[in-house]
Amino acid sequence: EEQEREYRSYLEKEKRIRAVTLCFSDLEGRFHMLDYDKKFLLDSADNLTFDGSSIRGFTAQHESDLRIKPDWSSFFWLPTDLFGPGKVIMFANILTREGDQYASDFRGLLQNFTRDLKAQEGLSALVAGEVEGFVLAGRNAEQNFDEKDGFQLLSTSGYFHSLPRDPLRQFIDEASVVQRAMGFKNEKDHPEVAPSQFEMNFSYGEALRVADLIQLYKLLCRQVASNLGMTACFLPKPVMGINGSGMHINMSVAKNGKNLFYDKAGKEQLSTFAHDFISRTLNHAQEICLVLNASVNAYRRLDPHFEAPNQIKVSAIDRGSMVRIPVGNEKTARMEVRSVGPDANPYLLLYVLFKTGLHGELSSVSATEHEPASLLPGTIQEAIALFESGDFVKKILGKENIEKYLACKKQVASRSPSDLGTLVKTSEVTYH
Ligand code: GLU
Repeated sequence: EEQEREYRSYLEKEKRIRAVTLCFSDLEGRFHMLDYDKKFLLDSADNLTFDGSSIRGFTAQHESDLRIKPDWSSFFWLPTDLFGPGKVIMFANILTREGDQYASDFRGLLQNFTRDLKAQEGLSALVAGEVEGFVLAGRNAEQNFDEKDGFQLLSTSGYFHSLPRDPLRQFIDEASVVQRAMGFKNEKDHPEVAPSQFEMNFSYGEALRVADLIQLYKLLCRQVASNLGMTACFLPKPVMGINGSGMHINMSVAKNGKNLFYDKAGKEQLSTFAHDFISRTLNHAQEICLVLNASVNAYRRLDPHFEAPNQIKVSAIDRGSMVRIPVGNEKTARMEVRSVGPDANPYLLLYVLFKTGLHGELSSVSATEHEPASLLPGTIQEAIALFESGDFVKKILGKENIEKYLACKKQVASRSPSDLGTLVKTSEVTYH
């Protein structure tokens, strides 16, 4: 409420702002933005409605009138140089006609879950996301995709050899300036292993905030690239034969500022709490895979030859394992989930990963005993079947959400043969 007062008076005073963007994400994580006149928003913030039936997945009859309510704790300036003058953006909660939290607003789901976790158990769900992407030649490269020619990369540089003014570097430089201006705590920006691939890391934080930042990261990358006549692309595997893009999720849990994942004397310096968290993640890996890898294209990426794991195991070194334990200390001890594509819905993803790690069932065998490790599903069709028969996902998401999410994913899958073949197909080039 204090934040609401503060930002309200700021909006009233700040003459340069004429409109306020409210944003939310659909079931699959696509970002939607509505611009409200500032005065109208200030007068009616508690009584805004919109037509949900035009949003994919929010389609049931009784959902055609939904409420949208700004979350004043998620207020961001959109830097003028990039987006034009006087723009601010806030994330919004989606409510039913009656004013209750709308069950398929996954941001709200994550928000309520992490709020309860803090209130009831004093736990903070902490996350750092490492979102990789490609810059492609030309604007709207996804819309202009040609199956035979594939995507045109824009730069030959990778990790070790890139000139400071290479187009990829130019993109990274501009995007990182915008990140800083928006309040990301930047850590390190660099060309990734594949040509024309980037990664711009920012600080870890509370799960909800990081999920919001992931959505803004993609938005700003797209806008920066577009202003430079390029396209920023977050498909997991846009080009065959080279590394794809991951969204590695680093997770830990803290209580009163103390990292519960750390134990100096523990295996890999992780606590029993952390090892159990990992064990539950691996135990449910099959049925939650669809949430981590939510597109046809994501299954092309899961190939350990390209540092993208398909093995359900944990390792301190092997990047072909689904879960890695990075070197850490008291503050940074964490697990890294590597089998996530950048086109996953970050809210649903973090909700499911924390729910699984905290409340899933422990595996009866220790992770290292799974030798050889079992594998993640190889196609979206297999992942759908595992999700559909999973008892645990049903328990944590509820029947209605499961049905809606499955309907979206079955539609995606129906456009693709279960044998992926060697060429990326137009039907899998989606925009997230
Ligand atoms: N690009 C790789 C992936 O698809 C990851 C590379 C790395 O380990 O940083 O997950």
